Amino acid sequence: MTKNRKAVWDIRVNTRCPGCENMVDLTDDPDFCIDLDVGEHDTERSSGLDVRCPLCKQEFKVDLEL
Ligand SMILES: [Zn+2]
Repeated sequence: MTKNRKAVWDIRVNTRCPGCENMVDLTDDPDFCIDLDVGEHDTERSSGLDVRCPLCKQEFKVDLEL
């Protein structure tokens, strides 16, 4: 019997900041809403989310999509 290998979740939520035009990963923000289901999109709670660019601190809204 071989032991099960570990598998690690690696979730990114990428968007392009309207301020600095860099790709940012919203999961870098500890305030990012983590109540969402994995891959959730087209729902009220996954639309119009307030986020902040970790690079230039610009605040903007995102709609999550797959
Ligand atoms: Zn930015």
